[in-house]
Amino acid sequence: MSITIPHRLYLPEAEIPTSWYNLRADMKEQPDPMITPNGDLIKEEDLYPVFCKKLAHQELDSETRFVEIPEEIREVYKVYRPSPLCRAYNLEKALGTPAKIYYKFEGNNTSGSHKLNSALAQAFYAKDEGLKGVTTETGAGQWGTALAESTSYFGLDLIVYMVKVSYNQKPFRKAVMETFDAKVIASPSDTTNVGRSILAADPDNSGSLGVAISEAVEVAVTTEGYRYVLGSVLNQVLLHQSVIGLEAYAAMEKLDEYPDIVIGCAGGGSNLGGLIAPFMRDKITGKATGLRVVAVEPASCPSFTRGKYAYDFCDTGKMTPLAKMYTLGSGFKPSANHAGGLRYHGMSPILSKLYHDGYMEAVAVEQTAVFEAAKQFAQLETILPAPESAHAIRGAIDEALRCKETGEAKTILFGLTGTGYFDMTAYAQFNDGTMTDYIPTDADLEASLADLPQV
Ligand SMILES: *Cc1c(COP(=O)(O)O)cnc(C)c1O
Repeated sequence: MSITIPHRLYLPEAEIPTSWYNLRADMKEQPDPMITPNGDLIKEEDLYPVFCKKLAHQELDSETRFVEIPEEIREVYKVYRPSPLCRAYNLEKALGTPAKIYYKFEGNNTSGSHKLNSALAQAFYAKDEGLKGVTTETGAGQWGTALAESTSYFGLDLIVYMVKVSYNQKPFRKAVMETFDAKVIASPSDTTNVGRSILAADPDNSGSLGVAISEAVEVAVTTEGYRYVLGSVLNQVLLHQSVIGLEAYAAMEKLDEYPDIVIGCAGGGSNLGGLIAPFMRDKITGKATGLRVVAVEPASCPSFTRGKYAYDFCDTGKMTPLAKMYTLGSGFKPSANHAGGLRYHGMSPILSKLYHDGYMEAVAVEQTAVFEAAKQFAQLETILPAPESAHAIRGAIDEALRCKETGEAKTILFGLTGTGYFDMTAYAQFNDGTMTDYIPTDADLEASLADLPQV
């Protein structure tokens, strides 16, 4: 007799984690430290002009294994968490695979993504420190929305630099952020030195996350009572996102299940780093040596699979410290044809280190294949996935199809990071057959990597 596993498992509210889990505390080797362009180590105080103090501390703290989640944050987590762990029965059946496919769904809040988990934390700490407001950048708009929800909840001002191409393509995203009282500016803009100099050289510049970060950082460090917050890549963000993995781990335990493969999409690495955290702990400590962890990234922005593991700036304007990470070069700009998000040039230093040391794998997929997976998933599982999330679906389907060939009944867990209702232009392109794939040439990548800082 087989155990009956529900389609959706919601943990009881009381089981929302009380602490985040800091994977660095269990890593055999630490990621290389953040440094200045001169090669000096960054100390906590060096980060105070940019980040609020508690977050600066979390950024550099590789020792505290469990960081207590402040009660104020847990109270808001309760509004939309625990998020469900779902079994994709219909997808399994359609694929004819012996594999079991689970996914952790993070799209059940207004931002439509996992980003709210860290946005709430960052807004709370800023408010707690008595700040007036924060600045940030947003690409596709999920982060800006999540942060706007959070700053309005905790009573802070918010200025969002939104990559111009997204600003023009997604006017409703701006409307959502404004509903939460955020000020949204298309980047590059004439409100900063960085923006003005980019526009002077190239008036039609359509923007990039790296440029938007430079603008947001410039405003934060030059405005009294303001700090900068970032929705991915940083160690603190992976820490907050560990709530995804901790819940998934507890839910799988209840089902008496354990994944053979954990899969996530990778832009800056925050959802993947959060989802895998407790499972990777098992792999590192020898409790789950056979576990495979797979990052799925777009072929048009392939930081893991074609980038270089090197020190690089986190922004195009070269204002941030240097982080050692898989990078395509801070000047890398993905093709404007690329509709699926995940367009950041670098990758979380924690995940970069794990990948470099052989603890995880990465694959790059083309966007038409990603949208095929998105469409199939939507039709079978009734959730319209964000294009970013659909990279993980693609990865999970490919693994499940491999199981069909080998007859192995593996257990697959993937992160379904969000919904795609603001990405209908991309869906429309896919549906009418006008979506194209673009893969940068080696020469393209060499050009942007040639500009890596020499340290
Ligand atoms: C931002 C975002 C991502 C990618 O960011 P990571 O930091 O790599 O997790 C993935 N999915 C959705 C829905 C997003 O909004």
